[in-house]
Amino acid sequence: MNLLATQTTDSSSSGPFSGVGDFFSSGYFTAIERISGLFVIAIWLALAFWTAKDARRRIDDQVIVSVCVAAAVLFGPLGVVIYMFLRPPEYLSDVRERELEIRAMERRLGADQVCPYCRNPADPSFLSCPHCGTKLKNACRRCKSPLDPEWRLCPYCETAVAGGATPRTRDVDVVSGRTTTDAPL
Ligand SMILES: [Zn+2]
Ligand SMILES: [Zn+2]
Repeated sequence: MNLLATQTTDSSSSGPFSGVGDFFSSGYFTAIERISGLFVIAIWLALAFWTAKDARRRIDDQVIVSVCVAAAVLFGPLGVVIYMFLRPPEYLSDVRERELEIRAMERRLGADQVCPYCRNPADPSFLSCPHCGTKLKNACRRCKSPLDPEWRLCPYCETAVAGGATPRTRDVDVVSGRTTTDAPL
């Protein structure tokens, strides 16, 4: 080591640097140089490929994915470190899965309604709230099924809802009444 150091300083100032030059031009050194060069290129490419793969799983926008890959190619490990700090924390598949779960949960909550007055759970088939006694729905005058306030027609027996009935729904009522009473099968 010491010998090599003095030789190098000697060669840089003046005099014979043929020995050092021999070492650098030797096949041994060029082999190391080539291997380490290939190693760096391999790491560089691997980082770029990893960034492309990871960015595609996290980012929906193709332009932003391209920018991330370009940063990894141009700046190598530094670009990848910056990308890892700025990348979205979740995979797109996880985000989609969570959105689906939330939608399913909302649907479940919509089906199992709550009483608008006391906030206790009230089944959609309840006519009155069992907790506070509030009238929640009207019963069909014919089949006693619970009817939504917006319905004009009972979906179970086709009877028009009293008060909210239109001529069209009354026609249906009359027709269905006639067919069931006048034409027994
Ligand atoms: Zn209630
Ligand atoms: Zn009915």
